[in-house]
Amino acid sequence: MKLLEELCRTVGISGFEGDVARIMQREFRKSCDFVELDKFGNIIARKGKGKMKIMLAAHLDEVGLMVKYISKDGFVSFVKIGGIDDRSLLGQRVVVKSRKGDVPGIIGSKPPHLQKEEERKQVIKHEDLFIDIGASDEKDAKKRIEIGDPITFESNFNGFGNDLYYGKAIDNRLGCYILARVMEKIPADINATVYAVGTAQEEVGLKGARVSAFKINPDYAFAIDTTIAGGTPGIKETESNLKVGNGPAITITEASGRGVVTHPELRKLLIETAKKNKIPYQIDVLEGGMTDGAIVYITREGIPTGVVSIPCRYIHSPSGVFSMKDVEDAIKLLTMTLTGFRV
Ligand SMILES: [Zn+2]
Repeated sequence: MKLLEELCRTVGISGFEGDVARIMQREFRKSCDFVELDKFGNIIARKGKGKMKIMLAAHLDEVGLMVKYISKDGFVSFVKIGGIDDRSLLGQRVVVKSRKGDVPGIIGSKPPHLQKEEERKQVIKHEDLFIDIGASDEKDAKKRIEIGDPITFESNFNGFGNDLYYGKAIDNRLGCYILARVMEKIPADINATVYAVGTAQEEVGLKGARVSAFKINPDYAFAIDTTIAGGTPGIKETESNLKVGNGPAITITEASGRGVVTHPELRKLLIETAKKNKIPYQIDVLEGGMTDGAIVYITREGIPTGVVSIPCRYIHSPSGVFSMKDVEDAIKLLTMTLTGFRV
């Protein structure tokens, strides 16, 4: 739990995953035979001496923003890194990760008092928003930050008291946490070589998974990520019937078939392992969105791949909600699946 909170509170937007990678490196060193940080920013660990190679991928990065322009008055314009709903940005507290340290900021906007009737009806776009870092002018702002600095939502992590928690960057620090725990739990004499990869730049095109899968060339792979839970007002059962707390999700396909199509043998193995060990699970057929699995499975000549994910509410927003029980069950499911790997 302490590790999960540390991971969620750490900042690492796509391309700036260094701090998250270092935490994973520290954890892998305790449990794995070999750990390396590759040229791309992926952290790769290895455990076991078996002939069969199995790759586990969990992306390190989170969605965020980046400084694009600083105005004469010292206000900051930004671009989005990854998929963020513009409507979730308004009024948020953010942190600019500058070379000089963390600079707090507020995403400002025009107060309702000054908005005209038509303005109030319009959805505000991110290009019309700005960040206030309390600078007196451009020169003052540039003493603290520079163009190209990454920005994230302010750190937060807390419990609701009934296995439900919320936090920043749960997509995909939950996956990172699960990956670290699974590597700890699988036996050293496992009949395979398991490669754990904390992948870089997933949110901007599944890039780290692409290069690391090519390098490792595994026989099988699993991606570990988060997925979209329903069960909240405004989401129809037909859109998502996954519920937070009902177990980890086993993906059949993502993005209506454009993402991973889980290999039938791995799908069978995951479901049978869950049933045999009485681990609750849910089946995910995802209409939009994909994971590292989508790129790993079309690497080289094709790599049979499965995806295990944690259903979350308010994904890609400043705070997502998840069940710790689902996380523990995902660790169990993956550990059992790898230990008894047979296809
Ligand atoms: Zn993700």
